[in-house]
Amino acid sequence: MTQDIYVVIEHIQGKVSDISYIMTAAAKDLAQHEGGEVVGILLGSNVSHLKDNLALDRVILGEHPDLKDFSSDAWKRTLLAVFAEYSPRAVFFGNTTIGSDLSSSIAAHQDCPIINHCIKISDQGLVTSQICGGKIMTDSQLSEKTTLISMIPGGYKPEEGQGGPPRDVVEFPVPDLSDLKVKVAQYIEPDTSDVDISQEKVLVAVGRGIQTEDNIELAQELADLLGGTLCASRPVIDQGWLPTSRLVGKSGKSVKPDLYLSLGISGATEHLEGITGSKTIVAVNSDPDAPIFDVAKYGIEVDLFDLIDPLLEKIEAAKGG
Ligand SMILES: Cc1cc2nc3c(=O)[nH]c(=O)nc-3n(C[C@H](O)[C@H](O)[C@H](O)COP(=O)(O)OP(=O)(O)OC[C@H]3O[C@@H](n4cnc5c(N)ncnc54)[C@H](O)[C@@H]3O)c2cc1C
Repeated sequence: MTQDIYVVIEHIQGKVSDISYIMTAAAKDLAQHEGGEVVGILLGSNVSHLKDNLALDRVILGEHPDLKDFSSDAWKRTLLAVFAEYSPRAVFFGNTTIGSDLSSSIAAHQDCPIINHCIKISDQGLVTSQICGGKIMTDSQLSEKTTLISMIPGGYKPEEGQGGPPRDVVEFPVPDLSDLKVKVAQYIEPDTSDVDISQEKVLVAVGRGIQTEDNIELAQELADLLGGTLCASRPVIDQGWLPTSRLVGKSGKSVKPDLYLSLGISGATEHLEGITGSKTIVAVNSDPDAPIFDVAKYGIEVDLFDLIDPLLEKIEAAKGG
């Protein structure tokens, strides 16, 4: 086995996903403790240029038309071939739809351990995971076998994994993919008729703490006054109180506003995944232990209904009306 730390680079529609930069930053920390290099595995079709802004030592490039859009079967076969050839010390996957699909099936196939929900590499080189909705932190050592690590955002900023271009690029011979059971027929873009929250500068986000559909109006008033847009966590969307286009997080959109004002959102990892690009997060929650406070620049421990009216008045007064 080598001491090198590998990162499976995720990209969608020609753009490297933020989680790939975050994994690269974590892999750099881990590689320092293990004494190896940081190696990216970049699979796709005509994706070579995506390596240029990643702070990797080396890239293993696997290009094939059937690797163009993510396909579990095709990507897994290619990754297994890469692992057989290079025997990495550890491999980072995103705790994303793509990464979870790959890491769990590869761990089962190879009978190798997987450490889930890694948020940071500790100063001692341990893999720190945030589990139980952020209430428990655990430290794990790498096993003697190749260890898979599934990474969540929150511990590193994407910029920490940016840099490059890598010193070396190795073109990897993609194995035979002629008998794939599933092939991607078409990539379907989501409905874009609503406002694109990923481009908004000011977002007011509501969670289950908003309690009823009628209360959404209150949050909308606040968003209007701030010149912002309303978005939400999953329970609010599942209730049908706002359209799916306003969902923030793992199954919704990643946002990067100047201000993300969160009202009654606990900060589950699936939600935090979508907000790490925000410049300033302000969290309002009545529970002092809510994990959202761990990522917020400003936290207000209060019942949101005690806050909104006085806040509206203050903003109106500040605006001179
Ligand atoms: C595969 C998968 C994908 C997912 N994708 C997403 C996703 O994309 N986006 C997403 O958001 N979630 C997603 N989830 C769900 C996620 O795990 C959480 O369940 C969800 O984010 C919780 O939403 P919440 O914070 O609004 O609700 P809760 O976790 O119930 O939190 C409500 C918060 O409101 C606070 N509160 C209650 N009343 C008040 C009050 N009066 N004043 C102030 N604070 C109050 C509470 O203290 C609590 O912290 C996903 C889950 C899975 C399994």
